[in-house]
Amino acid sequence: MSYQSVNPSNGEVLETFADLTSGQLEAAIATAAGQYEVWRRKSYAQRAVVVNEAARLLAANVDAFARLVTLEMGKRIGEARGEVEFSARILAYYAKNAERFLAPVKLDPAVGEAYMESSPLGIVFGVEPWDFPYYQLARVAGPHLMAGNVLVVKHAGCVPQCAAAFAKLWIDAGAPPGLYTNLPISHAQSDRLVDDPRIKGVALTGSAEAGRSIAARAGRNLKISSMELGGSDAFIVLEDADLEHTVKWAVWGRMYNTGQTCCAAKRFIVVDSLADEFLRRFKGALGALEPGDPMDERTTLGPLSTEAALVQLLAQVDRAIEGGAKLLLGGKRIDRPGSFMQPTILTDIEPGNPAFRQEFFGPVALFFRVKDEAEAIRLANDSDFGLGGSVFTNDVARGRRVASQVETGMMFINNISWADAALPFGGIKNSGYGRELGAMGIQEFVNKKLVRVASMAAPG
Ligand code: NAP
Repeated sequence: MSYQSVNPSNGEVLETFADLTSGQLEAAIATAAGQYEVWRRKSYAQRAVVVNEAARLLAANVDAFARLVTLEMGKRIGEARGEVEFSARILAYYAKNAERFLAPVKLDPAVGEAYMESSPLGIVFGVEPWDFPYYQLARVAGPHLMAGNVLVVKHAGCVPQCAAAFAKLWIDAGAPPGLYTNLPISHAQSDRLVDDPRIKGVALTGSAEAGRSIAARAGRNLKISSMELGGSDAFIVLEDADLEHTVKWAVWGRMYNTGQTCCAAKRFIVVDSLADEFLRRFKGALGALEPGDPMDERTTLGPLSTEAALVQLLAQVDRAIEGGAKLLLGGKRIDRPGSFMQPTILTDIEPGNPAFRQEFFGPVALFFRVKDEAEAIRLANDSDFGLGGSVFTNDVARGRRVASQVETGMMFINNISWADAALPFGGIKNSGYGRELGAMGIQEFVNKKLVRVASMAAPG
């Protein structure tokens, strides 16, 4: 099969790529397996030399890496630069902290001495999405390489140039062959790889559908997996919120990366007394965004990642309206070259509407008006997803109380700023399981081995 790298801001085909042949795939896995036997024996300090160098090269070449993201999936250039810088910070964070995170832990048995040590598992297979073409890769490469595993990665079909650039980064950083391998492969080849006994674990970030397919396959093979899936995060506005601050976060939370972020604010749940004013300001701010070339710093609205993503999202909005939702803003393709969509607000979404339970992966906000805090929490929890969420209130103690009651993996009070290498990222329900980043992220693919030292009488 072949696939294309296309510029979504004008539809230009940039490059065409082919899947690996089965012979090439076998050679890549054999090299990775051979490298694992070497890499697992390296000290943390030796691994950190390579990982730190990759971080340094990313940070030193922010613009070149960022331009490729903008070209291939349409992220606005300023956001793309931010993604590259954050990816470098993630790599440096694990180079610095991995040894501490994986240090042996002394246990306290009734008799004698015992401890838990952490050792790598082998080849980890990463399956990654296009919405953050480098950050998603750094989230798996930093921790799992520092833990002593090696990585083979299937990136999304629409960002082949970014996938290749990230693999070259490791070569440039002095990584030995087989440490980090980019695998342009089909879903069928990916399935066979999950079955391969040399693969010891699978880390997927993507949709719930992909998660179900790969997690089932990994389960059948009794392989460990981590699943970072979609979300439909609630953005709760209580009656004591500072509206100016709140609306700025609402716009950023929905529109960052043109709305294509797993933990973007997707359901805006606003207490009745503020609802009209919130909606007036939110609609005004979204309506003022200007589509343009994402390479131009002044552009405030970029394209969607692909034409297919745009067509699918427009159809989803149409179905929501057929199901009874009202269109308050947008809802259409923008009349210009490229895959641009108008910022959109839907209201009156009842539980019977398919939109009520779906993720909208783009610039579409679902708006809900509620009576009070209790109803806001109930509605936030009436979701198949459980990734993140946020609450806006002038009373931080109240914000903490609400945050504790919302059933998700992450909650943010008066902000939605998830970007920190030290903070664990992940969800529950259809948003998946496992955590990436922070001290938790490096524990996903290691063997936690108990060692007990005899200081007791022989049995019998
Ligand atoms: P997707 O279609 O699930 O694709 C994600 C990755 O999985 C791609 O590499 C894709 O390859 C691959 N894939 C899909 N189905 C597969 C299968 N049956 N077998 C093997 N590989 C398969 O997701 P997307 O539409 O690109 O990304 C958006 C989704 O990801 C949203 O739901 C978003 O919320 C979620 N996401 C979650 C997180 C998180 O951390 N929780 C972060 C970012 C995004 P191809 O491109 O070749 O199909």
